[in-house]
Amino acid sequence: MKWKTPEPREYYSKYNRIGVSNDCGWFECYELPGEVVAVCEPQHLQEVNAFLIFGDEKALLLDTGMGIFDIRPLIKELCSREDTAKAKAPGSYFDSLQVVNCHCHFDHAGGNWAFDEILAVDVPIVRRQSQAGVAHEPLSNQTDEDMFLYDYPEDFQPEEYCVKPYRFRPCEDGHIFRLGGRDVEFITTPGHTEDHAMLYDHKHGILFAGDMIYFGAIYVQFDNDILGHSDIEQYIDSLKKIRTRCPDLKSVYVSHNDFITDSSAITLIGSALRRVADGTACGTPLHDEKYGYYMDPPTMREYTFDGFSIVAGF
Ligand SMILES: [Zn+2]
Repeated sequence: MKWKTPEPREYYSKYNRIGVSNDCGWFECYELPGEVVAVCEPQHLQEVNAFLIFGDEKALLLDTGMGIFDIRPLIKELCSREDTAKAKAPGSYFDSLQVVNCHCHFDHAGGNWAFDEILAVDVPIVRRQSQAGVAHEPLSNQTDEDMFLYDYPEDFQPEEYCVKPYRFRPCEDGHIFRLGGRDVEFITTPGHTEDHAMLYDHKHGILFAGDMIYFGAIYVQFDNDILGHSDIEQYIDSLKKIRTRCPDLKSVYVSHNDFITDSSAITLIGSALRRVADGTACGTPLHDEKYGYYMDPPTMREYTFDGFSIVAGF
């Protein structure tokens, strides 16, 4: 796999790593500007990032990772430390912690089961998944040995990997999480999937863009009941929506690979999607059945742009 490099990714060295006790030998934590801690899983190909956002009184957790290890003790630790992201109310953050998903894919919702309640967009796929979880079988390609940077982590049983059921509460577009001196807005952004949402931090101008903006493979091809349904026109509309809803946008924190991306990526990705939708971009057929995601259309194409690509189902 080309993602495998002998050393961990270079971009992590740009950030201050936080030493933690409850990392399970799996999670890594980094301090980001604006009182945010990123919790990442760099040993799996997904390289997914969860974000813990601190206000003066409360904290908000965006996503719970893959669920390969229990993220809860780590989040509890981060919420209790005086040094973490200059947290002003250590000890009380975890009791009032709210947890929100940018969407329900396994790499963002895998650890949901460990928390009392998950806030997310109220659509059928979320209702279904929160009640029934996702079985191992459709996710089995995620636990192939070559999806891991090193050997399987100790105590991990690949054949048991699944998304466990969890408690879900609907969150409406425009809902404001008041964290104390910091308002974070929930903005529904369908496109990657029908349940996708972003968070906008009005205090620092940070957009938490989930899976819709980053430099990597951008997926707009989903069309099944497990991974949901992508819609390229909705995706483009959602990028326009965040432009108007986040007028003072300064930086974009993203859910895969490097944590922070420049806001110009929104325009770049938006115009690339427009070209794909209009049929003016040139794509190559994807025959990667093993990693192409379960039940996706056989007509997938990958369109390559400068620093990112778009995988679309036509
Ligand atoms: Zn993802």
